[in-house]
Amino acid sequence: MKQLVLASNNAKKMKELDALLAPLGFEIIPQGQLGIPEAEEPHCTFVENALAKARHAARLSGLPALADDSGLCVRALGGAPGVQSARYAGEPKSDARNNEKLLAELGDNADRRAHFVSLIVLVRHADDPQPLIAEGEWHGEILPAPRGGSGFGYDPLFFVPAFGQTAAELDAETKNRVSHRGQAMQQLIARLPAL
Ligand code: IMP
Repeated sequence: MKQLVLASNNAKKMKELDALLAPLGFEIIPQGQLGIPEAEEPHCTFVENALAKARHAARLSGLPALADDSGLCVRALGGAPGVQSARYAGEPKSDARNNEKLLAELGDNADRRAHFVSLIVLVRHADDPQPLIAEGEWHGEILPAPRGGSGFGYDPLFFVPAFGQTAAELDAETKNRVSHRGQAMQQLIARLPAL
């Protein structure tokens, strides 16, 4: 069983990744279980933040590490909230306040196009010069008011034309299959045998 440290303590992510990677012979260990604190995410791109988190976990654990960074990019806002998605409306993190701020910033702008980004990185060791990098995008539109009760974050405002529903109206299995994170994970898994 090959061990991989997950540079996150998010239980939902952990469960999702475990389901995908366990059949391939990988044991996922959350960094918190090894006493590793969360890394800083000071960068202005998803890939830099994901790499910083993965290298941090690999350095402190001595094991290969997997990290992801994700967020929502809205066209009319120049890509905001982007890497600030989790804390768009400031501390403490609040999905409700983030959604309110997003609607206020967009106002009655006619261009409602947006996409989620998921950047997943795997480093074999802290100074790995050639990390595996996978990126998924999920395109949709920002509604003027929230709809749906599942999911998290900006899901209730994110309308997916292909399904005629918001991400918060889709069942979890469908969302995991088609979302930015699902796409990035599938890419990464396809490349894991090369490890
Ligand atoms: P992180 O990758 O856990 O740092 O998430 C960044 C932030 O982006 C989250 O707190 C959400 O606000 C937003 N986000 C990322 N993925 C999703 C998603 O699938 N649905 C809704 N919001 C998301």
